[in-house]
Amino acid sequence: MASQHKEYDFYKVVQDYVDRAAKLVDLDPAVRTILGQPKNELIVNFPVVMDSGEVRLFKGYRVQHNNILGPYKGGMRFHPQVSLDDVKALAAMMTWKSALMRLPFGGGKGGIKFDPQSVSHGELKKITRRFTHALGENIGPEYDIPAPDVGTNAKIMGWMMDTYSNMVGSGDKQSVKGVVTGKSIACGGTLGREKATAQGMVFCLIEWAKENSFKFEGATMTVQGFGNVGSHFGVLLSKLGVSTIAVGDHSGYLSNPEGFNAHKLQDWVKQNGSIAGYPGGKPITREEFFATKTDVFAPCALENQIGEAEAASLNAKIVVEGANGPTNPGGERILLERNIAIIPDILANSGGVTVSYYEWVQNKRSEYWTAEEVDDRLEQAMKRAYGEVSDFARAKNCDQRMAAYSIALQRIEAVYREREIFP
Ligand code: NDP
Repeated sequence: MASQHKEYDFYKVVQDYVDRAAKLVDLDPAVRTILGQPKNELIVNFPVVMDSGEVRLFKGYRVQHNNILGPYKGGMRFHPQVSLDDVKALAAMMTWKSALMRLPFGGGKGGIKFDPQSVSHGELKKITRRFTHALGENIGPEYDIPAPDVGTNAKIMGWMMDTYSNMVGSGDKQSVKGVVTGKSIACGGTLGREKATAQGMVFCLIEWAKENSFKFEGATMTVQGFGNVGSHFGVLLSKLGVSTIAVGDHSGYLSNPEGFNAHKLQDWVKQNGSIAGYPGGKPITREEFFATKTDVFAPCALENQIGEAEAASLNAKIVVEGANGPTNPGGERILLERNIAIIPDILANSGGVTVSYYEWVQNKRSEYWTAEEVDDRLEQAMKRAYGEVSDFARAKNCDQRMAAYSIALQRIEAVYREREIFP
């Protein structure tokens, strides 16, 4: 991905976390071996006729890491830097996330290597549909269930669902709605999914705040990435009295010591595609952004953004990882040395997959839950997961990332222990 620090092997980083956690819980070496590689790695090259009449070939990926707990589950990323190794890392993280949240899902991830902002609406639709067609039976509501990630949204999920449903027999069309989650409400999505990842981060932060006597009213936050996750996090925290004082995306960074109106900034990004030109924000450098004095720092863009330099300059009490893998191991070491708390990605951003599960269950049962019901369930799920991670970290005297990985690995190991390895 658009890593700030070059030569970054994201897959190896995630494998190293697994190794450390495996040691901590004395994981069965056979289970460690199995989890070291995904079950399936799919690459599809497919042609699309562009508006100009030119035929362009696109490269799409779907990595299915593990399905011992249930169907593969994970987002689809449309971004110019999508690569097989990064998708493998992200797919593995979905396996840990589902296990940590006690969801009946495994882990998967996919995407297409291109810039969705560089194509027309019609081209985007054709690319999505042709990709879904190329994946064919490698996805399915009981087999592998995509969702939105960077560069994709509810509209794109609707196209995927529609394409897939046109590939199955007419008698099955209605029963395959659950082939993707993160759909619009009209297409069978659930209330609360769009903000779910950010809402889960907020529920975690509330638990951390209780443990640390942290007061929300009057506190400040900075957020990197003002897309789905980052913008909803800003809006939700503003309701608790927290001001967003600096933001950034690929177009640059803005500061406003008085606090941005998170709603208005979110609307601006929806209309203009980025924070660039937003009135009321002063342009600052990336270095100034990281050094801004704040209470909460939320990386909600891409992996490998907080390295040693950023961690050394960060002036925050807590980092809530909305993005997957935003802190690299060197950055994490410095944050921990500096006593800056980290709520790790596989816990902090797991509200997204949790509410995706609620959507899948509603689709299966032809039910529609209220927004309150979704939020209440998510709150309970996040509270429980946060409590388990926090208790484990205290008991084993380890950081929360290791605790989260350890709990996930133990749950997966328990299933392998019972079922054993075929044949
Ligand atoms: P979006 O595409 O909606 O937003 C991504 C944001 O990151 C945009 O603001 C984008 O800016 C910004 N960004 C991209 N590249 C850079 C860069 N080099 N420097 C600074 N900012 C950058 O994606 P999401 O909000 O869905 O995803 C964000 C993160 O959250 C990802 O790591 C994703 O894997 C993770 N996540 C998402 C979940 C979800 O439910 N959507 C669930 C769990 C995790 P711009 O638009 O200007 O390019």
